[in-house]
Amino acid sequence: MPLLCRVADELYEVFADTTLDQCVADLNGMLARWAHPPRLSDHDGTFLAPAPGLRPTTRRGASGWPRSAAYALAAIVAETGRLPGGICHAHDCDRPYLNTGSGGEQRYCSTRCATRSRVAAYRHRHND
Ligand SMILES: [Zn+2]
Repeated sequence: MPLLCRVADELYEVFADTTLDQCVADLNGMLARWAHPPRLSDHDGTFLAPAPGLRPTTRRGASGWPRSAAYALAAIVAETGRLPGGICHAHDCDRPYLNTGSGGEQRYCSTRCATRSRVAAYRHRHND
């Protein structure tokens, strides 16, 4: 399998995780494959950032961007203690999204999908 497809599959699995434990396990798998020593660890219920001083991409080569992607998602989990994102809840969309807000739960990849879903839900309620 080409590198791009392999890493895309791995990243999609991270976004599809619905529990923090599974997300951390998948991210640690990515970090082990692409960044080697750093990993997230749970200390008193708080996830620690991967290895202090790790630079996400300091070397050139094929593994640079998978390493950066895994590191960036791990840093979000360590900082927020939450899932880094998810898969869009719109019924005809399966794109991953990154949690960008600090407030409520994000469920859609874009404003467009959120609006389409709201309109569909409104029509469904008023057609019953
Ligand atoms: Zn979407």
